Amino acid sequence: MTSTFTSQPGGDPATAAAPPAVVATEVSKVYGAGDAAVHALRGVSVGFAKGAYTAIMGPSGSGKSTLMHCLAGLDTVTGGQVRLGDAEITGMNDKQLTLLRRERVGFVFQAFNLLPTLTAEQNILLPLQLAGRKVHQEWFDQVVDVVGLRDRLGHRPSELSGGQQQRVACARALVSQPEVIFADEPTGNLDSQSGAEVLSFLRSSVREMGQTIVMVTHDPVAASYADRVVFLRDGRVVTELFRPTPDTVLDRLKNLGG
Ligand code: ADP
Repeated sequence: MTSTFTSQPGGDPATAAAPPAVVATEVSKVYGAGDAAVHALRGVSVGFAKGAYTAIMGPSGSGKSTLMHCLAGLDTVTGGQVRLGDAEITGMNDKQLTLLRRERVGFVFQAFNLLPTLTAEQNILLPLQLAGRKVHQEWFDQVVDVVGLRDRLGHRPSELSGGQQQRVACARALVSQPEVIFADEPTGNLDSQSGAEVLSFLRSSVREMGQTIVMVTHDPVAASYADRVVFLRDGRVVTELFRPTPDTVLDRLKNLGG
C-alpha cells in the first residue's frame, strides 16, 4: 500500500483537514541479515494528523512496536523516511535524535518508568527540568486537573496505585506540550477500571488541549477511544477505521486474521 493516510473521505473532517504531525513514507525495517533477516516493516506509508488520537493495531508480530519506535526516533529505519513536523528524522545522528525525543516527543509505556525516590510532582516536572525549560504554572495546573492528580502530587510512586502511576506518566508526557505523544500499550498493566480512566484523559488531552497521540494497542476497547485506527499485518498497513467502536475494531481484526 503506497497511499499516505493523511485524510480520508468520510473521515472526521476536523482531523482529516489538519496537517500531519508525523508522516512515514515507504518505511521498511529489516532486523538481521541473510537467512535470518526479519522484515518487520515492508513499505509503510501513513500520516498522523495533528490534534488527533490514532491507534495502531494488528496481530502480534505485525510490526506495531517497530513502527512506533521508528516514528518516535527510538529506532532507525532500513529504508524510507519519517518526518516529525518540519524535521526529517531519518538521517539524524544519535545526538539529534536524543534532542528530538527530549524536546518534541512524549512517551507513555506499559511500564510506568517513574523514579521511585521522586514525588509525583517531581516526576512530572523532571523532563522539563532536564531540558532546562521553564514550567508554565497554568499549563501544569491544567494537566494535573485533567489527569486528576491534584491531591496526589506529594506522593511517591510506591504510595500510588498502578492507575495513578500511569496518570503521573501521562502527565509527565503532557506537561512539556510535545508535538506527539507515543503510547505503547499504556493500559497493558492496568485493570479495566484504571485503564478506562487513563484512556479517558488521553482522550481529554486530545479534545481539550489539542494533543496529538499515537497509541499502539492490542485491545479493541482501548482502540475505541481513538479517532482512527490504523491496522497492520505482516509489516504493512492494510486498512484503517475512523470513529471506531470496540465492535467495529474487533470485526476488522477478525477479517485480518492472525
Ligand atoms: P508487534 O508490535 O506488532 O507485536 P513487532 O514490531 O514487535 O510486532 O515485531 C515485528 C517483527 O519484527 C516480529 O517478527 C519480531 O519478531 C521482529 N522483531 C522485532 N524486534 C526485533 C529485534 N530487535 N530483532 C529481531 N527481530 C525483531
